[in-house]
Amino acid sequence: MRNEIMGVSFDDLTLEEAVRTGEALAEGPDFSYVVTPNPEIVNMARQAEDYKTILNQAALVLPDGIGVVYAARILGRPLKGRVPGIDFASGLLDRLKGTQRRLFLLGAKPGVAEQAAENLKQRYPGLVICGTHDGYFQDAGPVVEAIRAAEADVVFVCLGAPKQERWMARYGPQTGARLMVGLGGVLDVYAGNVKRAPEVWQKAGMEWLYRLLHQPSRFGRMAKLPLFLVEAARESRKKGSA
Ligand code: UDP
Repeated sequence: MRNEIMGVSFDDLTLEEAVRTGEALAEGPDFSYVVTPNPEIVNMARQAEDYKTILNQAALVLPDGIGVVYAARILGRPLKGRVPGIDFASGLLDRLKGTQRRLFLLGAKPGVAEQAAENLKQRYPGLVICGTHDGYFQDAGPVVEAIRAAEADVVFVCLGAPKQERWMARYGPQTGARLMVGLGGVLDVYAGNVKRAPEVWQKAGMEWLYRLLHQPSRFGRMAKLPLFLVEAARESRKKGSA
């Protein structure tokens, strides 16, 4: 079941349910991709119809930000909760580690994906990481070829939005991979370059504030979030009076 929030249809799943579905997709016969929109991404989709279509055509659309969960509540279509991309990724890694499934890490600055791979191999013994590539390339061709040559089953695509979603939808099917997941800055976290908020902040729904305090350059992007909720309230009133 999907809940439509400002034009993007989100899967209403718990983290556990989402991970189980992701695992099944990684085993499936066809290519599929997962997106993890936060309010910023939903806003981008409201301005670009083709991008919105790419999001809505994903096999799984997971609410990464607390802002999406609040908007869902305001719109009267509440979601079970937030499913942060990084928690989904970590849940998936936990399932993959006991299998022969092959993971490829794509994105971030040169060296970051390699460092993330090192750290993940330690944290998830038995995990097969079949290749890495940085996210600052000009031509897609060699990257598609690298993923194909590595015989990757699952690819974490961390190119930032909207690039990563567009990339997965356009090039994913050519790579031979079964599942791609668009995960923003997650490789920086796995590499140890960016710290995640402590759990109390996460549980309180304040992870965004923690990130803002540690990366003040994000202020411009985040200043738009309250507006997102105002828009949700406006849409809700409009629907209520229709
Ligand atoms: N990035 C990339 N290629 C690009 C632009 C960005 O690989 O052309 C990477 C960037 O280095 C970072 C990630 O994409 O690792 C985006 O991080 P951001 O914090 O913006 O994403 P968020 O987690 O907020 O979605």
